[in-house]
Amino acid sequence: MGARMSVCKAHGVRCSSCHSDHNLEIEAVVTVTLYPDGAVHEGGDVYWNENSSIYCSDCHHGGTVHEFQLAAETFRPRRKMRIIGSSVRGT
Ligand SMILES: [Zn+2]
Repeated sequence: MGARMSVCKAHGVRCSSCHSDHNLEIEAVVTVTLYPDGAVHEGGDVYWNENSSIYCSDCHHGGTVHEFQLAAETFRPRRKMRIIGSSVRGT
């Protein structure tokens, strides 16, 4: 993943309140290894789904991943070309 890849583009979520994708925290399921003094995440996959809780620490808005996906969809840049005046007719 490059440095220019945004959370919104990579994961399709952004805050449904302030539209930020910079400080999103998600309640995910990970596999940990148990030790006598605690539990350690030693790598491996991180799972979440549309019903997982997600929280924006920019504006303190919380919701579900589904809501934040809708927000990402709404504000995704449109790729449709705008047709302006008669220039589309060509010469
Ligand atoms: Zn927010």
